[in-house]
Amino acid sequence: MASIDFEHIDKIYPGGTQAIFDYNLAVGDGELVAFVGPSGCGKSTLLRLLAGLETASHGTLRIGGQSVNALPPQQRNVAMVFQDYALYPHMTVRRNLEFPLQMRDLPSTEIERQVSWAAELLSLSALLDRLPKQLSGGQRQRVAMGRALVRQPSVFLMDEPLSNLDARLRVQIRAEIGELLERTGITTIYVTHDQAEAMTLGDRVAVMDGGRLQQVAPPRTLYERPANVFVAGFIGNPPMNLFPVRLTPTANGGLNLDLGAQRLPLTLASSVAEHWRAWQEMPLTAGIRPEHLHLAAVEADGLSAKVADAEYLGHETLLHLQIDGMAAPAPVLVARLPGIRPFEKNQLLRLTLEITQLHLFGPDGLTLVNGAADLNAVP
Ligand code: ADP
Repeated sequence: MASIDFEHIDKIYPGGTQAIFDYNLAVGDGELVAFVGPSGCGKSTLLRLLAGLETASHGTLRIGGQSVNALPPQQRNVAMVFQDYALYPHMTVRRNLEFPLQMRDLPSTEIERQVSWAAELLSLSALLDRLPKQLSGGQRQRVAMGRALVRQPSVFLMDEPLSNLDARLRVQIRAEIGELLERTGITTIYVTHDQAEAMTLGDRVAVMDGGRLQQVAPPRTLYERPANVFVAGFIGNPPMNLFPVRLTPTANGGLNLDLGAQRLPLTLASSVAEHWRAWQEMPLTAGIRPEHLHLAAVEADGLSAKVADAEYLGHETLLHLQIDGMAAPAPVLVARLPGIRPFEKNQLLRLTLEITQLHLFGPDGLTLVNGAADLNAVP
């Protein structure tokens, strides 16, 4: 087992595309870090650098503390699992598992021991004499995992291993992978474009965009304390509502959040209170999660809004709302309400925001205010 360190890694492909910009990340021994981000953000490039299939243009890559910049793939002791299982179709499951060990000239008793161990761990013992075509998608994925596992790698690299499976199987195999990695304690980088998969599997999640690391943190921290507007909008489904606002002082020394023609009182906590004068000069972006929007119990409370659409999902209703008096194009906010609540298009209603759950982002996209950590309840 081993730690992994990315130190100031740049990757510029021949032809000039820079895929990775100054990437820095320390992954602990036995840790599972999920790399997540939209297509093209550089996730696979980082995995290929670790596997030794690409070389960094700048920076140092370490596995177990040792620089691997000059080390060929076969000397890195990493195992990669891809979405297309890459099993040998003419070989049985047993032969598929044995093959990587035979390539290393291990004695046959040792090979047998390793294969039984992996088969047991992955519930493949009853399937050892089948061919890949006689297996389900989930079973094939388990064989691919087993083949990586028997080599006893110090690092596991997984590149979207579940993307060929249907939604239900994905959830099941995801849980199995999580359990397996916990039991074996092998340091793992797990690449996915699916934020839900990253959030359920990762000890920590590294969010990337445009070849740059945006934030790395445990799932709950990412959700509750996003470092910037990209992370805020990427993590969570439906995503955080983001809309333009300004901060203005009130006559009695308080602050208002201005949403076009409507205002909400806001009380900054001492952690950020001294900054408001600088912020009132700037166009800001506010963010609030759909579960923190509610219908007002009292007519006069909250903001005036109009129903643009309603999605009835059974256990909840996603209500799409236009806030009155915001500059065109008026952003549509999504509220998540429990159960089925019938609404009509263009219906007018009053919407309250859990104001202490609000996030504020500056013109550069960086977080200024992170919910309850930086806001007090309005007296
Ligand atoms: P992801 O895995 O997040 O989808 P990639 O790491 O595959 O992203 O790609 C990152 C960027 O590098 C993209 O702009 C992609 O077009 C570019 N890229 C990837 N591989 C190559 C290559 N072999 N040659 C040139 N550009 C590449």
